[in-house]
Amino acid sequence: MSQIRSIVVPDIGDYHEVPVIEIACKVGDTVTAADTLITLESDKATLDVPAGVAGMIVELHVKPGDKVSMGSIIASLKVGAGETVAAAATAPSPPPPASATTAVSDDIDCELLVLGAGPGGYSAAFRAADLGMNTVLVERYATLGGVCLNVGCIPSKALLHLTAVIDEAAHLASAGIAFAAPTVDIDKMRAHKSAVVGKLTDGLAAMAKARKVQVVRGVGQFIDPHRLEVSSTGGERRTLRFKQCIIAVGSVAVHLPFLPDDPRIVDSTGALELRQTPQKMLVIGGGIIGLEMATVYSTLGARVDVVEMLDGLMLGVDRDLVKVWQQQNAWRFERIMLQTQTESVTAKDDGVWVKFSGVDAPLRYDMILQSVGRSANGLRIAADKAGVTVSERGLIPVDTQMRTNVSHIFAIGDVVGQPMLAHKAVHEAHVAAEAAAGQKSHFDAKVIPGVAYTQPEVAWVGVGEDEAKRNGRAVQIAKFPWAASGRALANGADYGFTKLVFDVQTHRIIGGSLIGPSAGDMIGEVALAIEMGADALDIGKTIHPHPTLGETIGLAAEVAHGGCTDLPPPRKK
Ligand code: FAD
Repeated sequence: MSQIRSIVVPDIGDYHEVPVIEIACKVGDTVTAADTLITLESDKATLDVPAGVAGMIVELHVKPGDKVSMGSIIASLKVGAGETVAAAATAPSPPPPASATTAVSDDIDCELLVLGAGPGGYSAAFRAADLGMNTVLVERYATLGGVCLNVGCIPSKALLHLTAVIDEAAHLASAGIAFAAPTVDIDKMRAHKSAVVGKLTDGLAAMAKARKVQVVRGVGQFIDPHRLEVSSTGGERRTLRFKQCIIAVGSVAVHLPFLPDDPRIVDSTGALELRQTPQKMLVIGGGIIGLEMATVYSTLGARVDVVEMLDGLMLGVDRDLVKVWQQQNAWRFERIMLQTQTESVTAKDDGVWVKFSGVDAPLRYDMILQSVGRSANGLRIAADKAGVTVSERGLIPVDTQMRTNVSHIFAIGDVVGQPMLAHKAVHEAHVAAEAAAGQKSHFDAKVIPGVAYTQPEVAWVGVGEDEAKRNGRAVQIAKFPWAASGRALANGADYGFTKLVFDVQTHRIIGGSLIGPSAGDMIGEVALAIEMGADALDIGKTIHPHPTLGETIGLAAEVAHGGCTDLPPPRKK
């Protein structure tokens, strides 16, 4: 026998008049007890309200935009005794004990809690949800995506694309096509960057909802090995209980303690805000992030100096690539000061004055970007209360399943260490989520590629030539100069080259690097070759399309096995 039941908004704590942002069902739908009927969005969290009972929807009493409180009627359901039993019996993951309250009470229970919604965190949460886990994602900021989407990879690449087009247009003059100097509307550039970021972060929010990943906004701190306290900006606190947890809290820019607090001194986040184009800019730190920002600002007209304590730019990248990069970029910089200390920085009305070791008088700048590395956030989450080991530098040690010393708590991404790159975080995320779901996943990538998205791009993976030499490893180096590539010549990139590194004993490829346009898009092929244990014949005999820049990878492999006909014949030994 069936009856009509009214489904109401259950106890949602202190919240009243919460807007309905989505109706997940329609009249006539048959729902199980676990199915979401509507989604509410308070200023702190998105709450899915499940049916709580199986049946058929005969009437909906709310629409998007309506505001509801505890007791508001959502829908009328035709419920039959048999249907309820059947639905409960067949529901793939029966609602947790407090089905209606899971989403709405101040205390949330979940199978998996992911702390931090950067590329590591959201990828882990989405993978876990796809594997059927009841997942909660905690993030302090309003948008998902972490550093990468909001203040890292994506906004920097949006700006780099715009300035690369300006550079490219300027270079066409020597081929007979001259454009007038561009008119740069910095507000519109900023808007373009924000629109790109917004599209991606909106997409993530929609994907979280589609997967029923509950997003809770606030700063999380562990209480014990199974509980996290989340504090909102308004000071409210709530407790989240979890069976397993993935820590994905990332990293923050290192700030030099001797720099004065002055709006003209920024970190990468400040530089990406693109508030102004300075006439004179100093970049402290010659790493990838600093040089990417130097690329943007120099194209916009800033005269840029770089100061680096160590003896080279882009440390870790083979010197022959960096040499070509510096030649191509000489016009961007007034001074590249290597093995130089920044001794003092004084903010004055007319600019920020900096004294360097070995330079007599202080130099004046309109803007300073400090880009001296990132520090992991492991010490900021009270991990000790959960028993999780964190190093003095904020890093969390993990095993190959990304488990910390507490076996039901995992850690991924920047917080577990170098290389601090988004693609590494995503792969670790999938491993952790799969391990949490009971799968036998392990992180066993042989290599992780790196890219400087500068002009030109520099990309590298695996063992570099310099590293091999330093370690006394017997390697064969095969280089294909782009001066012999028709496509590179046509594109004005004859300065570029592709280099592959082979192990002399196994003949397998163990590393590779490229410099030139789209180097970052091509390095994945070298990474794949390394993962697959390919040798020079495997790569050289793989037919690459002609004429492409990617072809140079096949040609470099031909150089290695002696079959290249696009270069002068090798010298007889
Ligand atoms: P994050 O992206 O740092 O995310 C961590 C999240 O956790 C953040 O959203 C943070 O708000 C949240 N969080 C932290 N603590 C708490 C807490 N207690 N409670 C709640 N939430 C918390 N990498 C690349 O691969 N390619 C690039 O081109 C590239 N470009 C970059 C450019 C710049 C300018 C910068 C700064 C970085 C760049 N990176 C790039 C690095 C990349 O952004 C990071 O490696 C990546 O974002 C790390 O991901 P993650 O998930 O570990 O951490």
